[in-house]
Amino acid sequence: MRRATWVRLGLFLLALAVTAVLWSRTVRSDEVTATSWSELVAAVDEGRVAEVLLESDRVEAVLKTPDQKARRQVLVASRLPNLDERALLERLLARGVKVSGRIERQSAFWAAALSSIFPLVMLVLLFRTAGGLFGGKGGARPMSFGKSQAKIYDRSSENKASFTDVAGVDEAKAELLEVVNFLKEPARYRALGARIPKGVLLVGAPGTGKTLLARAVAGEAGVPFFSMSGSEFVEMFVGVGASRVRDLFTQARERAPCIVFIDELDAVGKARAGGNGLFAANEEREQTLNQLLVEMDGFDPGVGIVIMAATNRPEVLDKALLRAGRFDRQVLVDRPDVRGREAILGVHLKRLTKVKDVDLTVLARRTPGMVGADLANVVNEAALACVRRRGEAVEPGDFDEALDRIQLGLRKAGLVMRDEERRRVAWHEAGHALVAMSVTHSDPVHRVTIIPRSVGALGATLQLPLEDRYLMTQPELDDALAVLMGGRAAEALAFEHVSTGAQNDLERASELARQMVCRFGMSGLGPQTFGRAQGGLLPGAATFEERTFSDDTARRIDDEVTRVLETAFERARAVLTQRRAQLDAIATRLLEVETLEKDALDALARPGAVTST
Ligand code: ADP
Ligand code: MG
Ligand code: ZN
Repeated sequence: MRRATWVRLGLFLLALAVTAVLWSRTVRSDEVTATSWSELVAAVDEGRVAEVLLESDRVEAVLKTPDQKARRQVLVASRLPNLDERALLERLLARGVKVSGRIERQSAFWAAALSSIFPLVMLVLLFRTAGGLFGGKGGARPMSFGKSQAKIYDRSSENKASFTDVAGVDEAKAELLEVVNFLKEPARYRALGARIPKGVLLVGAPGTGKTLLARAVAGEAGVPFFSMSGSEFVEMFVGVGASRVRDLFTQARERAPCIVFIDELDAVGKARAGGNGLFAANEEREQTLNQLLVEMDGFDPGVGIVIMAATNRPEVLDKALLRAGRFDRQVLVDRPDVRGREAILGVHLKRLTKVKDVDLTVLARRTPGMVGADLANVVNEAALACVRRRGEAVEPGDFDEALDRIQLGLRKAGLVMRDEERRRVAWHEAGHALVAMSVTHSDPVHRVTIIPRSVGALGATLQLPLEDRYLMTQPELDDALAVLMGGRAAEALAFEHVSTGAQNDLERASELARQMVCRFGMSGLGPQTFGRAQGGLLPGAATFEERTFSDDTARRIDDEVTRVLETAFERARAVLTQRRAQLDAIATRLLEVETLEKDALDALARPGAVTST
């Protein structure tokens, strides 16, 4: 065991001992005997009484005991009305008996109160100590009250990051360049009287590189980087979070110019709920937040401390944090577009030593919606795939494997499908692919596979958008619906019955059709929305639709959705009926090779291709 652990064990035992002693004292009560007045006076006369307590209604006489530690023997007698106090007092004093009145009772009350509260306090301490002793996680925490856990990222440390490590977020970098310049030469700004924003808030989805950017700013400016995560505060006891914040800023002031970075600010800076002091966590958060505000206001911006923070939920932040003089500069760290993704993939690919023939442009196009952290993961998975197959260098095939793994899940090992089922899946996927290749507004098909994946897909048709899309036109949505129906339509054509395999397609198609009718105004019901989304504003709360229409309208909506879906299905079936030969060719080939890439698909789908092979 380390020394700290011994110290904690000692403290733990000490707490235990003190508590035990206190309890035993409370337990040691007096032995009280009710007697008559005359007997009590007799005891005084015999010199057996050490102390007398005069109460309004009774007299208590504490008997002399030979041993200090023994239980006190107390005689209690009712006080007689109209007794001559002076005579009694003189008698007692003559015997050398200590006499006391009310005040003694008062202090007895305090002693009682203390002795019941103190064990409680000790218990709390004990639990915290025990938590540190036995709860493995963050062992040093509970006893190191208030000492800042802020880490220092020094210029020399390995954790150093620079702007070249962060790609695809050029606007954010441009905005932060000013902060870098200020940290490099605060004197120049001071001389001009220019003020730099005290607080910079990085806002963006998880994994877009906010933490990385903050570190890169410190790296570029060559200043120390103090960082702390908001989520650390939430579990703490009241008061600890606030003192951590105080400590963090004390340390930072000593090392200015520097950056103080508070990650996941929303954990601390959530808007204060009105009057809900029930939960200690809230209380703690509030105190921490207040302390943060105090610290932010408390220093002169000229000293060269820049506070950066990151959040993915700026909307929940307390308004006090966002007002002028605090986090008044907000920098959006956006999801990367296709060029940004290419750049990010480039950054991570550079870390791999051996790479062959990998086309970043294609890869970037295949990863729509992914953020920096996802892309880093893709590159790493590809490297792992290469190691698994004992390859020399990372090749495009490794990226296919990595993307399938991430987008579709692991290959399902040991899943044996009946021949009949494989045939069904082959026609189903061929149906999706052929419809996608036949309609005008669909994304090109990149590959089709009938290798089952653990997520539940028995096969997959991957389409590759040419660019990121922010809007979709009605023809594009109609085509997307037809492609979704392609699997089912192919099954209907090639087999006697349809199967359960199209369930997911149908769900997505139904959802899309309903949105077209109710949200996008793309149906016979005209340019209008139906229903209003409710809830969802509070994190974790379920969303539900508020109905803003009559029963009659509800029926017309249902009819319209059905019509849209049926039209899509008919379109898919028409396409496949017309190109039945190609459908069968693709499906047959899929059964042989399991996966078809774009070129092979195009060759098979070309009109007339079937007769020539
Ligand atoms: P956030 O803090 O926004 O959730 P991080 O900064 O923690 O995201 O990103 C996690 C990891 O993802 C980084 O360490 C880095 O490897 C990778 N990453 C994220 N964004 C980028 C980017 N724009 N450029 C390069 N790598 C990135
Ligand atoms: Mg982060
Ligand atoms: Zn399908």
